[in-house]
Amino acid sequence: MSCHKKAYITTPIYYVNDIAHIGHAYTTIIADTLAKYSRMIGLDTFFLTGTDEHGQKIEHSAQARGKSPQEYADEISASFKNLWDEFGISYDKFIRTTDEEHKIGVQKAFLKMQERGDVYKDVYKGNYCIACETFFPKSQLINEEFCPECGRATTLVEEESYFFRLSKYQEKLLAWYQEHPECILPKSKKNEVIRFVEGGLEDLSITRTSFDWGVKLPKELNDPKHVMYVWLDALMNYLTALGYGTDEKNIDFWPARVHLIGKDILRFHAIYWPAFLMSLDLPLPKHIAAHGWWTRNGEKMSKSKGNVVNPKEVADAYGLDNFRYFMLREVPFGGDGDFSQKALIDRINSDLGNDLGNLLNRLIGMSTKYFEGRIECARVSDFYQAELAEVDESIAKLEPYLFEMQLHRYLEELWRPLSVANKAIDRYQPWALMKEGKEEEVMALNGLIATILAKVAIMLSPIMPKTAPKIASALGFEINHASWSSLIVSKEPLSSFVIAPIPPLFPRIEEELLAHHEPDSATPQNKQESAAEKNSQSAPEPEDQIALIGIDQFFQSSLKVGTIVSAEEVPKSAKLLLLQVDIGEESPRQVVAGIKEWYSAASLIGTQVCVVANLKPAKLMGMKSEGMLLAAKDSGGLSLIRPEAPKTNGTKIG
Ligand SMILES: [Zn+2]
Repeated sequence: MSCHKKAYITTPIYYVNDIAHIGHAYTTIIADTLAKYSRMIGLDTFFLTGTDEHGQKIEHSAQARGKSPQEYADEISASFKNLWDEFGISYDKFIRTTDEEHKIGVQKAFLKMQERGDVYKDVYKGNYCIACETFFPKSQLINEEFCPECGRATTLVEEESYFFRLSKYQEKLLAWYQEHPECILPKSKKNEVIRFVEGGLEDLSITRTSFDWGVKLPKELNDPKHVMYVWLDALMNYLTALGYGTDEKNIDFWPARVHLIGKDILRFHAIYWPAFLMSLDLPLPKHIAAHGWWTRNGEKMSKSKGNVVNPKEVADAYGLDNFRYFMLREVPFGGDGDFSQKALIDRINSDLGNDLGNLLNRLIGMSTKYFEGRIECARVSDFYQAELAEVDESIAKLEPYLFEMQLHRYLEELWRPLSVANKAIDRYQPWALMKEGKEEEVMALNGLIATILAKVAIMLSPIMPKTAPKIASALGFEINHASWSSLIVSKEPLSSFVIAPIPPLFPRIEEELLAHHEPDSATPQNKQESAAEKNSQSAPEPEDQIALIGIDQFFQSSLKVGTIVSAEEVPKSAKLLLLQVDIGEESPRQVVAGIKEWYSAASLIGTQVCVVANLKPAKLMGMKSEGMLLAAKDSGGLSLIRPEAPKTNGTKIG
């Protein structure tokens, strides 16, 4: 921590195509934890979050809702800001890419890159994914057609474009990864990035002419039909938020100590962003830290399943601090996490209630009973030196875990002192000591427990910013830089005080508090998880959002007539049927469909259906499914879509 007295901490700017879900809350809460910790230990801290508002996808979403892109962006951006305010997120700036200063900064950066000889104009021919706002070379497409990131069909585009000489930075990037082992966290992700870069970097198209909703090119270039590529625009927020190109009063915060991101946007942050920075002749961030996805009860979250975790609902039901603790404790950073109410309740009742809350209650009980609440810590080390040493050893390990994003280990280690305290009570049996007249030892034992609770409260405060101060207040002190310095750094004893009884901090939770969203998983559409839903963690598609597509995109789905030649029930499944469908190919396609509720296996044999024939194969209950049946479902149940009159198997639909 000592090398750079400033700590610049960022979340990604969130794309305004949907409201916040647990993934956004997770990133933001980690960043908030780091920012709160940095401030507590006296670092000059700048915490940035905000919204990413440009691009064709936003233009389309706004259009579909009959709004202007700006109106639409204003609404969603405000919903993020309001949620963070409600959650007490301690950001220093909330940036929007539609801010005027941001646009100016991006334009200045563009000119600078051009001056450096890193920008040139050419014609781009390639496959473009609207959802990802990205061009992909043919070699990266799935079946020469589908987006390697989200699985959606790409569109062939030929347009004039400015390019950034990304290829020029390949070796420099590889050297950076090599020389800075912790530039990308977790390290497993770094290896993926290195493999990608070693595979060869092509120059990057950084402007578009196919839509308007973006930052215009600098006037100097006199080329008004181009707007900036959204990723150039978006990544630049980390600099423009500090005033890059305008009022540079906060620019000293650069370079970032950590950019927190979800793993879906690692490539942009770990390859494009450092290359842009090299071109701008600026230092590179210290860490780019990519976290994993959240599932719910083991299932992917998506709007269509109705199982997206709404962070506000969870915080309202279980308490914001408890939710923060759960998210950071439950998952090793970088790995995928699962949200279930059961796991959350277990954490609250066990870690928080039993280990922490009860310890405070025991201390209140013992000190009230034996000493009218008075607690003195001066003689703790006379009797309990070993325990103190063990506690300080754990506390000393914490900070590196935090800044290496090992928050689950941070919390795991922070719980050791609590276990030292609980064990000390069981071992020394203060009630027996009192009978033997060893009052001093009991007072020192209470002092030990108070000291441990005080240290834990301080180190827990960035994660549980409402609860930790309550513990501190019961122990007669406040959590701030001064108490951190004296209790954690200098290991001074806690001053004597009279304990203030407080209501239990973590009342036991006996049952799940949120209504269950029953996954509506019966329709074949949901069973055959669309590749698009892979992205659902970072951006679940609102159901009412109907993106406009061109006819060419429609024809990228291959729909065919087929005949069900065999149908059987899937053992142990209430919903699935295993079908073989002849669609005019050499052998029938195997399709697993969630239609058992509405059709018996026998009734389907010999009937014709409509099949989506070019979906990526999926596995359902261990069985391969190589297509999807078209069906319509309303309150009256589900019906398969069939040709009105028999058609030859394999006939194209469209
Ligand atoms: Zn895509």
